[in-house]
Amino acid sequence: MKRLFFGGVHPNYNKEMSTQEPSLQVITPKQVIIPMQQHIGVPCLPLVKVGDKVLRGQKVGDNEGMCVPVHASVSGTVVAVEERPHPTLGSCMAVVIENDFQDSAVPTPAPTTRDEKLNALREGGIVGMGGAAFPGNVKALTAMGKVEIMIANACECEPYITADDTLLRTSAQQVLEGMMILGELVEAERLVLAVEDNKVQAIETIRSLNEKYPKIELKVLPTRYPQGAEKQLVQAITGRQIPPRQLPISVGCAVFNVSTFATIFRILHYGYPLTQRIVTVSGEAIAEPQNFVVRIGTPFRDIIEVAGGLNDKTERVINGGPMMGVAQDNLDVPVVKATNSILCLLKDQNGAAENPVCLRCGKCVNVCPMHLQPLYLYRFANAGRLEELERLNLVDCMECGSCAFTCPGKLPLVEVFRKGKKMMKEASAK
Ligand code: SF4
Ligand code: SF4
Repeated sequence: MKRLFFGGVHPNYNKEMSTQEPSLQVITPKQVIIPMQQHIGVPCLPLVKVGDKVLRGQKVGDNEGMCVPVHASVSGTVVAVEERPHPTLGSCMAVVIENDFQDSAVPTPAPTTRDEKLNALREGGIVGMGGAAFPGNVKALTAMGKVEIMIANACECEPYITADDTLLRTSAQQVLEGMMILGELVEAERLVLAVEDNKVQAIETIRSLNEKYPKIELKVLPTRYPQGAEKQLVQAITGRQIPPRQLPISVGCAVFNVSTFATIFRILHYGYPLTQRIVTVSGEAIAEPQNFVVRIGTPFRDIIEVAGGLNDKTERVINGGPMMGVAQDNLDVPVVKATNSILCLLKDQNGAAENPVCLRCGKCVNVCPMHLQPLYLYRFANAGRLEELERLNLVDCMECGSCAFTCPGKLPLVEVFRKGKKMMKEASAK
């Protein structure tokens, strides 16, 4: 089949592992840990103190600037406000709530006017739930009146992860309603739902709703990693290329993940803030792989226990997928708004060799969807040559891992790119 974007790879997808279990069990833990940073931008400041009683949906953190609030995901008592482990940041200030299992919720009137709806998006704590965690209200405001094509991203191209697929199979209507509501709010001319062709049941479900939502176009794309990356997706659907260091809106597009749309629907239709999401628990090292509805702040350890526990030979637990995820050394980290998967592996499939050597085969160049030269980036990042990294556009690397996946020398490419980016950031801050 014709390629719709340059580069990319075909990893072993292993999606069927977590889609066998039909029920979507809801996990409500004894304690939730609500980190103050769950989005790109300014972190929240705690709004509660130890001993305070809180209701589900109550704001427990907020701040000014590019920030969206965080909410209590259970009702109960605040037992700590302190630094806690975080799945992507290492550690972060967090509000810890002891669950009273009453599930008493703050009354949440649904917004009616346009201004109320825009305000509700922020107050509901919306962020991109596909992994990026960009504040959704900021993206909506940026798109307002400028967006031609609004795209719902259901590609979910990372191996193992089936959270969006499960959402579409069980609650597609929430996604489609969310698209209609947000599309009207930002005045989008076209609404497109993009899905890869390996999600057969989800595609059937969306097609069955076609008559009710004639304005929404379904685009079924050939499965290829990283199709779900914004630049690749926009190119696959519209043929338009987003210039380096620009956003999709620069070519008239706005991309939101399907889980984000379902949450937008719940915020704007019912007034419910973002307090739960679907999380895939999968991999060869977990006893009962499946998808759960999880309260934000639930520790990984509790979820793994409900999924039957880990195999004794587990080598890695990852927040996210095997290509872009972050390995965890502490299972007390909580699910945050962008956590779509907890992946438990017997061996690290993309692990680097002990003494990695570049064979100069050029395979990494052929698969890089951003047209970068990973072999040189690796060499210059290791040598700390920042001018060369700038010239070769390391900043455009989206850390998709396609180069590392294909590299026969098993070089730790992405790890070194992350270090290189950090050095560049520190140098420019100086
Ligand atoms: S260099 Fe970056 S963008 Fe290119 S394949 Fe490697 S990780 Fe992906
Ligand atoms: S794929 Fe690996 S071994 Fe081949 S050129 Fe790239 S970095 Fe070197």
